[in-house]
Amino acid sequence: MSQFDVTIIGSGPGGYVSAIRCAQLGFKTAIIEKYSTLGGTCLNVGCIPSKALLASSHHFEELQHFADHGIEVPGDVKVNLTKMIERKQAVVDQTSGGVKFLMDKNNITVFEGVGSFESATTIKITKKDGSSELIESKNTIIATGSKPSSLPFIKLDKERIITSTEALKLKEVPKHLVIIGGGVIGIELGQVYLRLGAQVSVVEFMDRIIPGMDGALSKELTKVLKKQGMKFYTSHKVQSVERNGNAVVVKAENAKGEIITLEGDYSLVSVGRRPYTEGLQAEKAGVKLTERGQIEVNEHLQTSTSNIYAIGDVVRGAMLAHKAEEEGVLVAEILAGQKPHIDYNLIPGVVYTWPEVAAVGKTEEQLKEAGIAYKAGSFPFRALGRARAGGDIDGFVKILADAKTDEVLGVHMIGARCADLIAEAVTAMEFRASAEDIARMSHAHPTFAEATKEAALAATANRALHV
Ligand code: FAD
Repeated sequence: MSQFDVTIIGSGPGGYVSAIRCAQLGFKTAIIEKYSTLGGTCLNVGCIPSKALLASSHHFEELQHFADHGIEVPGDVKVNLTKMIERKQAVVDQTSGGVKFLMDKNNITVFEGVGSFESATTIKITKKDGSSELIESKNTIIATGSKPSSLPFIKLDKERIITSTEALKLKEVPKHLVIIGGGVIGIELGQVYLRLGAQVSVVEFMDRIIPGMDGALSKELTKVLKKQGMKFYTSHKVQSVERNGNAVVVKAENAKGEIITLEGDYSLVSVGRRPYTEGLQAEKAGVKLTERGQIEVNEHLQTSTSNIYAIGDVVRGAMLAHKAEEEGVLVAEILAGQKPHIDYNLIPGVVYTWPEVAAVGKTEEQLKEAGIAYKAGSFPFRALGRARAGGDIDGFVKILADAKTDEVLGVHMIGARCADLIAEAVTAMEFRASAEDIARMSHAHPTFAEATKEAALAATANRALHV
């Protein structure tokens, strides 16, 4: 029987990054993946393909502004969805191939098959052809990720009543896409098809979209997306989603108790994701699950069995690729006797719409609820020369700082390139910068990043320079 120091079950961003760090630290490492491609949800049906389609559809949408820039496009420009999806798949294949390269480069043994526990140190790998193999591992890291969840009364037929996985490979642009759930995934994929010509309606139970983020971001994103033609039904509770031939009929109840009916040709159910542990036989290793079906872990990501750890979407916390990666590195370093640390408050959240939405730290709502006295400074992108030069003037940066100490407590931004701009805020907060610190740093001109400096100036004695 093959023996390993560390075996990782699942090759998503949590699993494969952890495997690399384990190998770097000198552990004999194996990774088990049930699919033939490595990279998990993120690379295959999540972050990467959705960003590929967002990029393609963004190019198409930008064509509408070419005339403003003095560029004349002769004739009709059409979308070839098949080609667009093929390109997305090529990006996915290349990225997944890159992960395989990294496994080989780091001498990590890759097993294809479903990993399941026989005991706390023995793992069975069941291959596609039904054959199986046993391996021994001193330590195991569970990184089995998550799957899309649904509502009990919705029958996902994966043809017209679909999840994000199917939405990434549609054969036609929907005429009317009804999205159930106004979270990040629903809004991103909604914008893809909106740009390609679909009518898009979003039904959300809460009173706003991207409900976990600062209310001001939600408000601004709603305004921009409405301007682009997306329709919103917030504070609406979905009652039923039924297929009727090629139509999908969605019924939802509004706050007044009235029922509205939306008829589309596709409905995307994006109501969140659930931790995935099927086939793992965690109980055989004494690994406990929480009531929500997550693997129960302590602050060191150790499960109820001391030599087994769990990371990423399958444990508590934000379901984000970079959170899974940090946890993968943390566990590898703990196993090597180091004392790593993750500040979960500083894991940024991003929505890759255009304008992009990004945030780190506490929202205004959270600070109010916690009774923390804070000051806020905002700066609109439209006041920046660079934003005007490019024509990307929507959005703002908002900085929240402690009223007494001036320490930055949260940074919330919506606008062009915010997915990248947020890194400055994470760095500043990691070093416990004050708003004054950011305000006094030189930011290249003309850049979008100047909005962060100006927001910091606004947060410290209201001294923004360009408003
Ligand atoms: P996963 O990536 O889910 O990987 C788990 C792997 O384990 C899978 O490959 C699975 O096949 C395998 N597995 C499961 N059970 C077994 C078993 N018993 N044996 C062997 N293998 C097994 N996050 C971001 O940070 N940024 C984004 O832009 C972003 N966009 C997203 C867009 C979409 C449409 C979706 C669906 C998700 C997106 N996410 C994004 C979330 C991100 O994909 C997840 O947070 C991330 O993939 C979690 O990583 P993970 O390693 O925990 O698990």
